[in-house]
Amino acid sequence: MPGFEIFGAEERKQVNDVLETGVLMRYGFDGMRNNHWKAKEFENAFAKRMGAEYCQLLSSGTASLTVALASAGIGAGDEVIMPTFTFVASFESILALGAIPILVDIDDTLTLDPKAVQEAITPKTKCVMPVHMCGSMADLRALKAICDIHNLILLEDACQAIGGTYEGKPLGSYGDLGCFSFDYVKTITCGEGGAVITNKAKFAQHADHYQDHGHDHIGNDRGAENHPFLGYNFRISELNAAVGLAQLEKLDGILKTQKENYTVLRKALESIEGVTFRRVPEGGEENYSFLNFFLPNEELTKKAHKALSDASVDACFYWYTNNWHYINGWEHLRNLKSLGNLSSEVRNQMQDLNKTDFSKSDAIMGRTISSLVKIGWTEKQVKDRAEAMKNAIASVV
Ligand SMILES: *Cc1c(COP(=O)(O)O)cnc(C)c1O
Repeated sequence: MPGFEIFGAEERKQVNDVLETGVLMRYGFDGMRNNHWKAKEFENAFAKRMGAEYCQLLSSGTASLTVALASAGIGAGDEVIMPTFTFVASFESILALGAIPILVDIDDTLTLDPKAVQEAITPKTKCVMPVHMCGSMADLRALKAICDIHNLILLEDACQAIGGTYEGKPLGSYGDLGCFSFDYVKTITCGEGGAVITNKAKFAQHADHYQDHGHDHIGNDRGAENHPFLGYNFRISELNAAVGLAQLEKLDGILKTQKENYTVLRKALESIEGVTFRRVPEGGEENYSFLNFFLPNEELTKKAHKALSDASVDACFYWYTNNWHYINGWEHLRNLKSLGNLSSEVRNQMQDLNKTDFSKSDAIMGRTISSLVKIGWTEKQVKDRAEAMKNAIASVV
């Protein structure tokens, strides 16, 4: 995920606009800022690119999940269904609001299994949070049908799949709310940053107020503004927003290069018997930030992963034993280790994650390897990598 691969003159120019005025904040100081409103400009451009009515820029992707949930009125004791394969930010954002993360199995899309979602619904369920991991999406049509029947919020975490589409719509714009991260290792970066998109005016207004201490942003005297409800500070700085503005211009070029490089790698692996690929739901197009593939069983997958590493093929991930992306690595969540006391709702309603059966997820994650797709590779480097991956994997299957 290559935002950091392409930091250049365009980013410096945008940041310099801000440095020259010294107005590092996104709100106020109208007279001093020489008409630079980088955060505002980014929001307008991003909403347009993502086919959404509204965009709220934030300090991180985790903040975007928190703000999205809060904007939809989710709070203490509400259950949010999330997958076993994701980044820790999913349950962090849910727990931050006193809501309850309910973990359910994934399927061969590497995202939420709609059947598992259906089975996890209780009278306390308020939201379904699919996470479009490693460049591709959940079966959004099936999930939306479930949400419609049970009157649930569909919140897409598109942090790892920006620019992918489903039924022609940019990922993040299909559900009620869509979340993005612009941290330093994402497809485009602000250094740190995130965004929520939505077509619902109410959610957009809630997000706008909530991320800035409840400020209603009416008038032009910040100190005199009102606070219709409690908020927090999840604001992005004008400097970070400026970086993102330059990066957003480069998104379509990044996606094009990713697709080219992905295709070379994929063609090479397709020739190996025993290697299969992550299922992309019908009507979906990946953003090609990763090539995700399966081996026949866990043992062979571990061997293949080691063979790749022995062949010095970098950036191939075996998430099954990784500390940050799969339930196996979340000992702190399973045992609810927190600095202070968790709320009684969380303590009473959490699944016992040490006892919950996630064998369906294990059966998939144990066989999954993901190769990052970089955009800085030369044509020769991509070809050499494809050959090295093919040889390493073929040597074990
Ligand atoms: C990166 C990421 C986040 C969190 O983003 P930060 O900006 O690092 O807080 C959330 N969800 C997923 C799937 C991510 O990959």
